[in-house]
Amino acid sequence: MTITADDPTAAAILAAMPCYPVPPSGGSPALDGLRAARAGHGVAVGRDGVMFILRRPWLALDVPVTPRIAAYLPYGSIGEPRADLRCGLIPDEHLARILDHFRGALPNEAAAFVLWCETIRQFAVEFPIIEEATPSRLVYRTPVLSAGWHLVCDIHSHGTGPAFFSATDNADDTDATKIALVFGRLSDPDGPETVSRLCAGGMFLPLPRSPFAGADDAD
Ligand SMILES: [Zn+2]
Repeated sequence: MTITADDPTAAAILAAMPCYPVPPSGGSPALDGLRAARAGHGVAVGRDGVMFILRRPWLALDVPVTPRIAAYLPYGSIGEPRADLRCGLIPDEHLARILDHFRGALPNEAAAFVLWCETIRQFAVEFPIIEEATPSRLVYRTPVLSAGWHLVCDIHSHGTGPAFFSATDNADDTDATKIALVFGRLSDPDGPETVSRLCAGGMFLPLPRSPFAGADDAD
């Protein structure tokens, strides 16, 4: 599409978050290119709403950000929402290792990252350097990623306390594209409690399922 803006700053902003009207057929070279891209983002405007589209090597996200548009628009549909892990599900043994680490750190909080490499298509767990840990406070450094590696999950514990996203967690997660998980009540015999969300585009979205293989499968 043609982007029209009078000054370079405005043009740069529009180029950084491109907007694509959806043709009646549902696709266009630009839209199809964005959906197939290794990394990128933009918005699609269809007769049934506005879709935020985000691609990362590990993530394909299409999320509607408005209700159906009331005005008549001679456009196509924005299509179905999706939130797919292009990297696949994270092996269960990584979750077990992380929970062991969190229990070992009790009564203090602790943190872990799940990283994924797009060249070797493998996951790795990294435990960050902790600058300060108490039962209610944790200060840690986010990992420095080597070429090809991506942060998929940012996980921390609330020790023996409940699992929830605190105001500090919300502030930390606003600008990130990642899955955030919190584990709490780690010493409970009934097992830990957990909350999760996908952070993308300044939004906190519910996860359709656990990112760990087998975690949702009862059979
Ligand atoms: Zn927290």
